[in-house]
Amino acid sequence: MNYQHILIAQKDYFNSNITKDLDWRIQQLKQIKQLVLDNEAEILAALYSDLKKPAQEAWVTELSYITLDVDHVLKHLKKWSKPRKVWTPLIVLPGKSYIQPEPQGSVLIMGAWNYPLQLVLAPLVAVVSAGNCAVLKPSELAPAVSSLLAKLIPQYLDNKAFSVVEGAVAETTALLELPFDHIMYTGNGMVARIVMSAAAKHLTQVTLELGGKSPVFVDESAHIDITAQRLAWGKWMNAGQTCIAPDYILTSAAMVEPLVTALKKQIKAMFTIDPSSSDSYGRIVNSRHTERLSQYLDSGEIVHGGAFDIDNRYFEPTIIVNPAMDSTLMSEEIFGAIFPIITVDDYQGAKDIVIGREKPLASYIFTRDKAQQQDWVKSIGSGSQCINDVIMFNAVPDLPFGGSGPSGMGQYSGKIGFENFSHLKSVLHRPFLKDLAVRFAPYSNFKFKLLRKIR
Ligand code: NAD
Repeated sequence: MNYQHILIAQKDYFNSNITKDLDWRIQQLKQIKQLVLDNEAEILAALYSDLKKPAQEAWVTELSYITLDVDHVLKHLKKWSKPRKVWTPLIVLPGKSYIQPEPQGSVLIMGAWNYPLQLVLAPLVAVVSAGNCAVLKPSELAPAVSSLLAKLIPQYLDNKAFSVVEGAVAETTALLELPFDHIMYTGNGMVARIVMSAAAKHLTQVTLELGGKSPVFVDESAHIDITAQRLAWGKWMNAGQTCIAPDYILTSAAMVEPLVTALKKQIKAMFTIDPSSSDSYGRIVNSRHTERLSQYLDSGEIVHGGAFDIDNRYFEPTIIVNPAMDSTLMSEEIFGAIFPIITVDDYQGAKDIVIGREKPLASYIFTRDKAQQQDWVKSIGSGSQCINDVIMFNAVPDLPFGGSGPSGMGQYSGKIGFENFSHLKSVLHRPFLKDLAVRFAPYSNFKFKLLRKIR
């Protein structure tokens, strides 16, 4: 298994400067949008086959996410890619200085299975906007979307600049041996370490979009019904398999009962009393992950749900109160339909728990207390945050997306995505006019004094 020929051909094409042309980038971005628009039915069917994604959910989180992303980038790309003038000091006058964003070359994009279309195409939008070539490696755990992308990408995009390689560990390992100019990986921390060591061999830049346990603190001042509705939506969308889903809730003992009641009401309203037959509720990606989740069930008191069906990859929306903090449920990222609630004495108690753990991809607080809101933003390090909501920061195209520390490195979405896959090259442009003598040897006291004055 050797993909070297793909990379060599892409590098040749890149060096022809075609991908640096703004019109080419705009045309390729429009083609990404067209791919999604023309093939909506087939894409929805593939997402249904892989994850039983309800059409509306799939459209919002995958298809229209991409088309809106393209629209946003197209609106600003001309401005982002222009040379950016900076101040030129006296010592280099006459002259002009500017930053010229330039593409990096060929980017390897490795997608994850939970949003299998979005997690390949959204990075691609950023990669194309910056003028790069790319090799796309969709996740093998979402096989329907993977083979659909392998079919559609060559039909819509410039084949000299973009290729799809399907496969699992062996194929990815072979790709990782190649000297890409940037690797964009979305997935878990264990594989991220493999990616980073492979990248180190060639000093390749990496963007790592990882996960973690994203906490929620619910204060007694929160509006209980609105809080429960937003939490239930964020937790059980895609059956809990969202990297920025709220992982667990921290709240006072007095809030547990009203919060559980409100969450149960929302589960019923969203997915009926039998979510297994609801068209609005998805499935776990495979039976291995369904079984993994089932092993979390004895970590604490189940106050709602707990039913699962390994063969049919079904896992009921489940709430567990006060699991042991050293249980696997509370030490691993859940990435599924279980919502633990842990009681804390107060806000400070919640903060201590969150600060004592690894930096998460997102952190959420529901409170009317302004001091708490400000303190949460100041004290809690995480990739992103919402006050009084979950996940929705991701609907704002100018907010960068990405983790920090163990939840990832590098960010994309909008301008930051353009910059992430660009090199911001410094350029100083000077005419052939005589320079100030002070710059050159032989040095003297006079020159030294003058230099100190003009700098
Ligand atoms: P996954 O199993 O689909 O793996 C992701 C990619 O890694 C795939 O392309 C796969 O082929 C490749 N891969 C797997 N094992 C490999 C190996 N040994 N060597 C080389 N490549 C290998 O996805 P996953 O890791 O199960 O995804 C779930 C994780 O991803 C969760 O932690 C979740 O939070 C995180 N996630 C993060 C984001 C984000 O944007 N930050 C988005 C989605 C998921």
